[in-house]
Amino acid sequence: MVTQATPTMSSTRLLRSYVNGGWHTATDEGVPLRDAVTGEVIARVSSTGIDMGAALEYGRRVGGPALRELTFHQRAALLKALASYLREHRDELYALSARTGATRSDSLVDVDGGIGVLFSYASKGKRELPNDTVYLDGPVEPLGKGGTFVGRHICTPLRGVAVQINAFNFPVWGPLEKFAPAFLAGVPSLIKPASQTAYLTEKLVELMLDSGLLPEGTLQLVCGSVGDLLDHVTDQDLVSFTGSAATAQRLRAHPTIVRNAVRFNAEADSLNCSILGPDATPGTAEFDLYVKQLVTEMTVKAGQKCTAIRRAFVPAELLDEVQQAVCERLSRISVGDPANPEVRMGALASLEQREEVRRSLKALSDAGRIVFGDPDHVEVADADAERGAFLSPVLLRADDPQRAEPHEVEAFGPVSTLLPYTSVEQVVDLAARGRGSLVGSVVTGDAEFARTVVLGVAPWHGRMLVLDADDAKESTGHGSPLPMLVHGGPGRAGGGEEMGGIRGVLHHMQRTAVQGSPKVLTAVGNAWVPGAPRSEGVHPFRKSLAELRIGDSVVAGPRTVTDEDIAHFAEFTGDTFYAHTDRAAAEANPLFGGIVAHGYLVVSFAAGLFVSPEPGPVLANYGLENLRFLTPVKPGDELTVTLTCKQITPRENADYGEVRWDADVTNAAGESVAKYDVLTLVAKENER
Ligand code: NAP
Repeated sequence: MVTQATPTMSSTRLLRSYVNGGWHTATDEGVPLRDAVTGEVIARVSSTGIDMGAALEYGRRVGGPALRELTFHQRAALLKALASYLREHRDELYALSARTGATRSDSLVDVDGGIGVLFSYASKGKRELPNDTVYLDGPVEPLGKGGTFVGRHICTPLRGVAVQINAFNFPVWGPLEKFAPAFLAGVPSLIKPASQTAYLTEKLVELMLDSGLLPEGTLQLVCGSVGDLLDHVTDQDLVSFTGSAATAQRLRAHPTIVRNAVRFNAEADSLNCSILGPDATPGTAEFDLYVKQLVTEMTVKAGQKCTAIRRAFVPAELLDEVQQAVCERLSRISVGDPANPEVRMGALASLEQREEVRRSLKALSDAGRIVFGDPDHVEVADADAERGAFLSPVLLRADDPQRAEPHEVEAFGPVSTLLPYTSVEQVVDLAARGRGSLVGSVVTGDAEFARTVVLGVAPWHGRMLVLDADDAKESTGHGSPLPMLVHGGPGRAGGGEEMGGIRGVLHHMQRTAVQGSPKVLTAVGNAWVPGAPRSEGVHPFRKSLAELRIGDSVVAGPRTVTDEDIAHFAEFTGDTFYAHTDRAAAEANPLFGGIVAHGYLVVSFAAGLFVSPEPGPVLANYGLENLRFLTPVKPGDELTVTLTCKQITPRENADYGEVRWDADVTNAAGESVAKYDVLTLVAKENER
């Protein structure tokens, strides 16, 4: 049944899904979902009645083409507008977030963190991707001696749907961090939130759709079970999963995913570690940072963070002091209704989740003793400790770090275990026993210790934070995945890699090696390839973006470089390096064998040759890239420069854009003496 109505949150309403262009309400009673703080039933969830195959087909047929019509920059602009829209409406998300047990600062991480990912991808898309529909990956590769056969990698969006299965703990950030790179890549999303907190994701998706910014079919939502969804995925679809390692394992082996070699990305649980350096004794800034960070990671989101510190490695001789300091700090954490501003830690997401953590704690207690907290009892402010899913922070201490449990059992709540180590080699080995983690941290003021640990444990980690007195103030902390950095980890952590800036976008695209002539590769990539035809005529600096074409070029010169030029440049700039000024020393130089011109003199002369000086559409030169000096320039050499329009990137919200030019400076023998890209800003229209 498809309805367009937008019902209000009543006590037992069924969450809706958004599929096939409309809101769908399940055809059965569904499963009740409870407020984490009060235990009250707030909604029911079910996906019964959804035609999953049709939903995927709708995304492919309607959403995909609509997105692929847009350039990267146009998609980025929509992401930015969407982020602003959600920011204006974030109070609606905060209100529901509190019902998941989250404090206001927990909600900040989830809600504002998620919106921040949209902003970040919008900005990266605009700065790092072309205003085009194809992404060029890496340089042109020469494949033949004559220059007529070359190769280049291009990335184009997959023609399927990104199926995004999320965990319960970040009902806003989780879907948004998957949606943003998929959207930017040009791939529609189908979001499947974890049932426990799906009411918040439902609200998020409702807001996203209400914004009116997203082309139809680019965002769908399935609340409730995935049903037979995965039976319908094809070779062009992707599945991105966040959740437990056990579910990841099951989905990875799904017959349709295996048969169709569906791209599968998993972010699973992990037993992240934090290592205190031996230098960080009590009284040092690093000791305090370690203790503070551990307590933060245990209590933010009531420890329900895939990145939280589960294993706290401490030099054996500091174990007692660290334990004492952590316990003292934990004793100041007030647990209770997140609506109370004094409360520092709210509830777990559900009573089932609390039972799950208690079960894991039993297993962990075989290897260590509890030195803070009681898993069965906690004082709570303004709430019923039993009806709400409240749990005390629990710190364990395992004096034998070789026991298996701390390295294998994840208690997905406010739980951490202190473990002693006696040498850097030992702690590296112990860290690796997590068999793959999302993140690890080292807290030390000793850069050499940090290097040994980072290089030692990096193969088991997706991200490493080194915390010390220098970066503490600005540090975003152990537990915060950042959109510009890789999020994911090897092994147990799922083997996935989400976000990481443009890496996350490319994950949704197919990389293809295209071989052909420079002319064809220029046409395919919409970027000039050396050897492709060039067109000379009106000086290209006289052309606006509307008039300029890829391949437009100017050849200027020759100009002879003299002894006087080199001496003058040396004196004028102060660059009196001996190769330009001391004949005897220059002759002894094995590379030059005599006085040579400054590379910057060559570049300056080239600019003097190719520039068209009168005011016109070229507004500014904002840099050079890939500059290489290839052949020494000696007094008497004649320089000629060929400048060719290589790539045109109009800005979406400005009356100018970027133009990248290929500059090739040659000598009289036709050898390239310098090659580089010149970057300019050019007006879209000529002012006449
Ligand atoms: P989960 O039980 O594995 O569920 C994760 C998601 O998978 C939910 O949306 C769930 O839907 C769905 N799911 C479960 N069984 C499925 C099946 N057979 N087929 C298709 N989908 C299925 O994990 P969780 O309890 O929600 O999350 C907690 C775990 O996630 C922790 O272990 C934590 O470490 C990990 N986590 C990892 C990250 C990360 O970025 N690496 C982030 C957050 C959490 P239903 O809810 O409807 O069952």
